[in-house]
Amino acid sequence: MAPVCVARWVDPGRAAADTPDMTCSVCGALSRADATWCSQCHAPFAAPAPAPARLAPRQDAPSPPPVYSRWRKSDTSFGPVGRIGWTVGMTFFAVLFLWSGNIFAVGGWCFIAMPLVLRSVWSRSRVS
Ligand SMILES: [Zn+2]
Repeated sequence: MAPVCVARWVDPGRAAADTPDMTCSVCGALSRADATWCSQCHAPFAAPAPAPARLAPRQDAPSPPPVYSRWRKSDTSFGPVGRIGWTVGMTFFAVLFLWSGNIFAVGGWCFIAMPLVLRSVWSRSRVS
């Protein structure tokens, strides 16, 4: 007795929209809706239908490119006064520790604290 073909054709557009899986038209195995070939028999699937218009990206309102600045104030960064203030303050304590002669304070401040803080203070941030 010849094997009965149980494969069924599934409209790719309907399959992608209605069910998470698609059925292989050759062996009947279920595969992911976005698969391009069957994981059981390796038969290629038809190309999925293009996305409906409501899911397509909007093209009518191009947003301006973002602007980044190391200088201007943003929601998450200081303006010029804050940045310079932090730099002056950190430098003041660096001089204080240097004057004290404590080599551990100088090392911790100048090589750990200051780089971390000033790098964050002067980091570029999005201003628009
Ligand atoms: Zn298959």
